[in-house]
Amino acid sequence: MTIFSRIIAGEIPCYKVAENDKFFAFLDINPVNWGHTLVVPKKEEDYIFDIADEDLAEMMVFAKKVAKGIKKALPCRKVGVTVLGLEVPHAHIHLVPLQKEGDMDFKSKIDNPDAEKMKEIAEAIASNIE
Ligand code: 5GP
Repeated sequence: MTIFSRIIAGEIPCYKVAENDKFFAFLDINPVNWGHTLVVPKKEEDYIFDIADEDLAEMMVFAKKVAKGIKKALPCRKVGVTVLGLEVPHAHIHLVPLQKEGDMDFKSKIDNPDAEKMKEIAEAIASNIE
């Protein structure tokens, strides 16, 4: 079981943003920018491009809804989309609100993000998802 499956199962706490029957979205614990959100499939798959075509398309549509919620909650120029997957072997899409390119620099993360601020951001995004 991956750490993300344990989060989805509620065994490990997270700042949840959205969920449906197939996908789950929550704040990255070490955000590159405030509002940095991860979108993951509930079905474990390591590499995103091993996901079946229809499921991958659905995942991107789910990510789109979450991104629109991020943009409303945290006004930004655009919500950037990245896939890395080098650390956690459970496919995920990174969504990051951007004002400038440097807002998605994975070499500079926010250390020990304030828990209350993370909670408020997750709630704000969740309440702006249609
Ligand atoms: P990647 O696999 O895309 O290289 O990086 C995994 C991402 O997941 C990192 O940005 C990291 O901060 C995040 N991450 C790793 N473990 C946890 C966790 O337990 N909870 C949350 N919310 N994020 C995590």
